[in-house]
Amino acid sequence: MANVLFENVSKSFSGANGKDVQAVSGLDLEIRDGEFMVLVGPSGCGKTTTLRMVAGLESIDTGSISMDGVQIDEWHPKDRDVAMVFQNYALYPHLNARENISLGLKLRKYPKKEIHQRLDEAASMLGIQDLLERMPDQLSGGQRQRVAVGRALVRRPKVFLFDEPLSNLDARMRLQMRMELTQLHQKIGATMIYVTHDQAEAMTMGDRIMVMDRGLLQQVAKPVEVYQEPLNTFVAGFIGSPPMNLLCITWNQESHTWELGDQTLNPVPPLLDTPYARQQGSFKVGFRPECARLSEPASTAQTHPTPLKAQVAWLEPTGADTFVHLTMGKEKVVVRQPAAAAWQPGQVVALSIPQDALHCFEVAKGCRATVAG
Ligand code: ADP
Ligand code: MG
Repeated sequence: MANVLFENVSKSFSGANGKDVQAVSGLDLEIRDGEFMVLVGPSGCGKTTTLRMVAGLESIDTGSISMDGVQIDEWHPKDRDVAMVFQNYALYPHLNARENISLGLKLRKYPKKEIHQRLDEAASMLGIQDLLERMPDQLSGGQRQRVAVGRALVRRPKVFLFDEPLSNLDARMRLQMRMELTQLHQKIGATMIYVTHDQAEAMTMGDRIMVMDRGLLQQVAKPVEVYQEPLNTFVAGFIGSPPMNLLCITWNQESHTWELGDQTLNPVPPLLDTPYARQQGSFKVGFRPECARLSEPASTAQTHPTPLKAQVAWLEPTGADTFVHLTMGKEKVVVRQPAAAAWQPGQVVALSIPQDALHCFEVAKGCRATVAG
């Protein structure tokens, strides 16, 4: 077990057109001893590069990477005491499961008895004792992935690196393996860095999650904190399914109100009720799909907060809930409703957003607005 410290780590590649691609920019981060850290972000944001730099499969341009206080970024990969599990499993096709799992230990000249012991332990932890004599092409996707995890487990590395290990599995197997890997982490308590582009996987698995976009770390925090207090519009729009609704509002100097299209937003969060905010003139406001109420327009004429007028565009039933997609002028909004609610496409509805459900972001950079200004 170990902690992993990134200090100002950057990495660029030369792109096809002669322009450099900045894969990771100035990464500062400490991953704690025994932590399950999930690195999440869209394709191309620098996740794999970050893992490969820890494993030593990629050099770094600037900064340093340390493990337990020792700088390791110039060490040979085999000296780093990390084990990586890849999306495509990377099993040797001509070796059976047992040989695949134990190969690393054999090459490192571990005694036979030790290899057997570790193999047995890993196989029973992963429930693959009966599969050890099979060749990779005789295993299902989930079984192959377990063998790949087994190969990492027997190494007993200080740090496990997982690069989208569940992406090639079908939906049901993905859920199963999610649970198994989480339980495995609870059992062995090792430091794990887990990469995924799937925000649901990140939310359910991570002790903390780090969200990246275009090589830049956007936020690192516990999953619920990232969900409830996204630091910017990128994180707000990436975490959550469907993501947070984000709408533009502008200050109307004549009516002294915040306008959302041709409607008035009332009440507004305290943050917007300041000279600074009025001087800024425009903001993005966000709210989660489950935080707004829908009602018949007439029934709520006198209610608080003042409802906004919206029109139902289409319905997305998911079983327990239905996502109701609405249009409000040029803006699109999604609201989560119980499946039993009988909204119809085309219907005009009243949308009420409680004041404390509203998040405010600066327009220019998309970062969470603060009173300081
Ligand atoms: P992710 O794993 O988040 O999808 P990567 O870390 O693989 O992203 O890639 C980050 C960026 O760096 C992308 O723009 C990718 O095209 C680029 N990149 C990654 N590896 C190389 C390479 N070996 N040569 C050139 N560009 C690369
Ligand atoms: Mg990748």
